[in-house]
Amino acid sequence: MHTLSFRQLADGLRSKQFSSQDLTRHFLGRIAALDSKLNSFITVTPEIALEQAKAADARLAAGKATALTGIPIAQKDIFCTRGVRTSCGSRMLDKFIAPYDATVVTKLHAEAGSVMLGKCNMDEFAMGSSNETSWYGQVKNPWDPTRVPGGSSGGSVAAVAAGLAPAATATDTGGSIRQPAALTNLTGIKPTYGRVSRFGMIAFASSLDQGGVVAHSAEDSALVLQAMAGFDPRDSTSVDRPVDDYLAGLDRPLDGLRIGLPREYFAEGLAPAIRTCIDEAIRELQKLGARTVELSLPHAPLSVPTYYVVAPAEASSNLARFDGVRYGHRSEEARTLEELYKKSRGEGFGPEVQRRIMIGTYVLSHGYYDAYYLQAQKVRKLIYEDFRKAFEQCDVVLGPTTTDVAFELGSKSDDPVSMYLNDIYTIAANLAGIPAMSLPCGFVRGLPVGLQLMGNFFEEGRLLNVAHRYQQATDWHTRRPPDPS
Ligand code: GLN
Repeated sequence: MHTLSFRQLADGLRSKQFSSQDLTRHFLGRIAALDSKLNSFITVTPEIALEQAKAADARLAAGKATALTGIPIAQKDIFCTRGVRTSCGSRMLDKFIAPYDATVVTKLHAEAGSVMLGKCNMDEFAMGSSNETSWYGQVKNPWDPTRVPGGSSGGSVAAVAAGLAPAATATDTGGSIRQPAALTNLTGIKPTYGRVSRFGMIAFASSLDQGGVVAHSAEDSALVLQAMAGFDPRDSTSVDRPVDDYLAGLDRPLDGLRIGLPREYFAEGLAPAIRTCIDEAIRELQKLGARTVELSLPHAPLSVPTYYVVAPAEASSNLARFDGVRYGHRSEEARTLEELYKKSRGEGFGPEVQRRIMIGTYVLSHGYYDAYYLQAQKVRKLIYEDFRKAFEQCDVVLGPTTTDVAFELGSKSDDPVSMYLNDIYTIAANLAGIPAMSLPCGFVRGLPVGLQLMGNFFEEGRLLNVAHRYQQATDWHTRRPPDPS
């Protein structure tokens, strides 16, 4: 059951080959048997899952099922879940029980009828590219347990890649859906900023954060995204515009599709073996009718430094709420109010989060605001302008998702700059606000390689269409790692 697609799972449920309760027990069994090797879940919720599965079976019997009813899904532990710990990978929220559900959680479970298996591990407050900053320990890559699964959605991708969940939610502020999807042979999509509600999704950098999904294929991703997306009056940046029918558009032929190849994405720094896989994927898309257009995104190389001003600035402001007074970790040792703030934050936040708060506070401080924050906002506009011009020449922009395959656990944890450079190809899409996805396109030394597609605003359907056609012609996305032993 853990190798079936969403469509096959839905067929199996409807034709009563298995019930949602059977399916849920199967995945809970795999989590119990295998997750000690991967550490992909922070919290498993078997009681909730079986209760939701029972309700789904009733709904299926009544003929009121959606495409997701009865199918298990895992939630990144950044989405608030009523009555269930929502830790965001941090000691700060280790004992935090959310009093309400995130809109994404309501839409996927209460409305669409999918079953929540539990909450996935992640980098602390989604800050990281390797899932090594989590208070709950590192997550292992199912393709090679000595390597990172990528981050920050490392638990989500490890769970899905290992067949512990058919799909999982994830979030992407600078690459946290696409980079880990690439490193674990998954398909992951970060929608247009404003397409998926951020209500109840713990804020890291509010102008960049966007929820999305990781799954095995574009078709599975389309089904889950369809249920997640849409206007939400409780998120002030949510966009009030109808959601396209992603599934209906999947099979459109690619004849005449113009694929933009930005030269900055094929420059120095890209491992030659990755480049070979990307070139091969381009040839495959050409065979399917697409043609390529060479172009330039001249400001793309500035995306990492720009992001590392904007994101920490917003993070330092968002994380000010964790003061030891209202909720979250409270130090036992504090005797004065100032000590309460200092000690609660000092104990509650790990080193990477503290580093971000310090950078962010610095770039926003009087005297440096213009030099850093304001300057970064101007460069952000230039990055956006690059894409605006690119989409006058092409329909989708294509490049690698990462410079190389998954790296060894611990190999970059003492070098923040080399860790930050992991997102060199993914960050520009967040700064511009456009949708982007990663999909499997080959293997190097037995490790998966990801192909990145970026689209114009609200062109998620187009990206999923291109990815789906590619997946109809190739079988990279069907490969699975052996069960961890
Ligand atoms: N790796 C980037 C960071 O550490 C992006 C993380 C994300 O997208 N949440 O900030």
